[in-house]
Amino acid sequence: MSKRDYYEILGVSKDASKDEIKKAYRKLARKYHPDVNKEEGADDKFKEAKEAYEVLGNEQKRAQYDQFGHAGAQGQGFGGGFGGAEDFGGFGDIFDMFFGGGRRRDPNAPRQGADLQYTMTLDFEEAIFGKDTDIQIPKEETCDTCHGSGAKPGTEPKTCSHCNGSGQLNMEQNTPFGRVVNKRVCHYCQGTGKMIEDKCNTCGGVGKVKKRKKIHISIPAGIDEGQQIRVSGQGEPGENGGPSGDLYVVIQITPHEFYQREGDHIFCEMPITFAQAALGDEIEVPTVHGKVKLKVPAGTQNGKTFRLRGKGAPNVRGYGHGDQHVKIRVVTPTNLSDRQKELLREFNDISGNNPADEQENSFFQRVKKAFKGE
Ligand SMILES: [Zn+2]
Ligand SMILES: [Zn+2]
Repeated sequence: MSKRDYYEILGVSKDASKDEIKKAYRKLARKYHPDVNKEEGADDKFKEAKEAYEVLGNEQKRAQYDQFGHAGAQGQGFGGGFGGAEDFGGFGDIFDMFFGGGRRRDPNAPRQGADLQYTMTLDFEEAIFGKDTDIQIPKEETCDTCHGSGAKPGTEPKTCSHCNGSGQLNMEQNTPFGRVVNKRVCHYCQGTGKMIEDKCNTCGGVGKVKKRKKIHISIPAGIDEGQQIRVSGQGEPGENGGPSGDLYVVIQITPHEFYQREGDHIFCEMPITFAQAALGDEIEVPTVHGKVKLKVPAGTQNGKTFRLRGKGAPNVRGYGHGDQHVKIRVVTPTNLSDRQKELLREFNDISGNNPADEQENSFFQRVKKAFKGE
């Protein structure tokens, strides 16, 4: 079954602002929420809208989706081994977000960990050919000693006696209109609903420890500046058994002194002497795929560009290669010897003052006219 476009699902344009996306989703969530709408298919519509919002509501995921479509949003095709994020505790969160806390937030509900971002700098050629590498990232891991509970092994966190585990306290207030009950985050347990009497020595009761973790990254050939590789499940750990966030590796490429890249195409400039330009020659041009011979025809002008088919960067999605574009730079000689000067003067005498080349005549005529018009 082919998936619908996320923008279409939410009914917003591709350049919709964060706010517009949120509003559109809020409207759909209210309309189709299974607790509200019992019509057949409402549940599916709700899930569809939720999925679209999870991607478009997150800047990184949205950028990934814009670039690679559904495959990008789900991380299929890059880096390998991605699992889809599961649907944990979503409904409760939506009510908290949109319905002003009409329901209490369950502090024990599983929550997904935060996404992490890592910038990787590649050489020009590493980006062209791709590579496999390990990176070390500092990240929080679930504490091995207490398995995330924060309590010393052999002990259990106790339910907070002040809020009875709800994480919230009812604050009663007498007003002229009667008694009003407000809900506040329980300050005894910081809203977790739990009290840890014997704290785990390893993590000090937090349930998480900071570690440097080695992660294997497979960079596809042809990756370009600013593109991201999503590594699923390598972000911060989730809470209460929720899934981990994702790791996004953002690519930066060191500029090359000879090559320039635009998408899959590579650009370079080749200097030749004016004798080579006038008489024609076969020159050798460096490409990332090795040296290539290029025939420069007689009468080649400065700035003329030649295309070496298929000598550019491979397409990151596997659609062949770009080309290398070679721009000719005709170098005017300096520091001439007396003999060279003599030959050039002779050359000039027999050529007359106008350039002999037919093609260029009209150009020089125009220059002449411009002077006369002064
Ligand atoms: Zn409490
Ligand atoms: Zn611990």
